[in-house]
Amino acid sequence: MEEWQRLIHETITKPEVLARYLDIDVEEVRAVSEKFPFRINPYYLGLIEEKGDPIWRQAVPDLKEIEGNGFEDPLAEEHHSPVPGVTHRYPDRVLFYVSHSCAMYCRFCTRKRKVGSPESVDDQAIEKGLQYIREHLEVRDVIISGGDPLLLPDRKIEYILTQLRAIPHVEILRIGSRAPVTLPQRITPQLCAILKKFHPLFLLTHFNHPREITPEATKACAMLADSGIPLGNQSVLLKGVNDDPQVMKKLVQKLLTIRVKPYLLYQADMVQGTEHLRTTIKEGFEVIKALRGFTSGLAVPHYVIDAPGGGGKIAIMPNPVVYFDDQKIVVQNYEGKLFTYETRNANHEQIPTGPRLGENSLPSRDF
Ligand SMILES: *Cc1c(COP(=O)(O)O)cnc(C)c1O
Ligand code: SF4
Repeated sequence: MEEWQRLIHETITKPEVLARYLDIDVEEVRAVSEKFPFRINPYYLGLIEEKGDPIWRQAVPDLKEIEGNGFEDPLAEEHHSPVPGVTHRYPDRVLFYVSHSCAMYCRFCTRKRKVGSPESVDDQAIEKGLQYIREHLEVRDVIISGGDPLLLPDRKIEYILTQLRAIPHVEILRIGSRAPVTLPQRITPQLCAILKKFHPLFLLTHFNHPREITPEATKACAMLADSGIPLGNQSVLLKGVNDDPQVMKKLVQKLLTIRVKPYLLYQADMVQGTEHLRTTIKEGFEVIKALRGFTSGLAVPHYVIDAPGGGGKIAIMPNPVVYFDDQKIVVQNYEGKLFTYETRNANHEQIPTGPRLGENSLPSRDF
């Protein structure tokens, strides 16, 4: 048995077992897990330093999960599912669910309704999804998702990728996986040897806190990057985890050092059982404002809301446009200073740039 398989084998799913390692109220955890199961493997458990810390909050059931309200499927993913394992919302790309299991059940998960459900994604559902993609010539980008696709055995991952690569209109493959964070041991040389056969293949992972960037996770990302796989990160903004601007800055800076580009920062979805982890949009803006201009632009993710009801992802940011008309735009830079950019007339003939509005530097082109 490989190390990652052993870690899965030793995963804790019972409150009384968890109580041997953590200071929890067994009855509370039991009550929550009847509705929303938990799963914590020894590796991720080992990252917890104290009760209620940012790692704990992502992994350990909280009584608040069964007190609040919210929606089971806030993004109407099932409404946009032409066949059970596929969500086709955008013109040229689809989400393809190939697994319901994960190396850990994150307490904030948007697919809480599905993840950990006893029924696995069966081979027939995968075949139907593949068939749908084959028949839809407009699909040029497939996001292989779940659950966690990398929890499947190597041969199944290879099978799915082989089938998708054989479809001429599919240009790009992406794998969405939290394994580099919650079970980095899953990234083995054998897995990398499989993945690198299917380029262009991207991997989007999901670090939420700088403490998740351990030597193991660093090694996993290095192996993937050395296999030519561009790595991106999609974080969720979570109360008590990464809603502090300094924590987020540290996270995105550290991600670049392990060759992971921060891609998206999600406003937490309105999912049932996750309210206690949601922040306000204002807090999100404070986090983004602390990044833009203050650190490498490459480290700054797009802050997005996945519109409830199935509107898709919408990027939001504190508005840098102070004034705008046919002739000019007045914009504010990261320090709060104002700059004007003007066009002389409707032909967009530009006037020379220079100090405006009493400012002493060139117009900012940062936005
Ligand atoms: C996020 C998402 C995608 C991918 O969107 P990008 O902007 O291309 O990253 C595709 N389909 C669905 C349903 C999604 O939620
Ligand atoms: S790894 Fe992803 S899909 Fe699985 S529980 Fe966590 S957030 Fe949900």
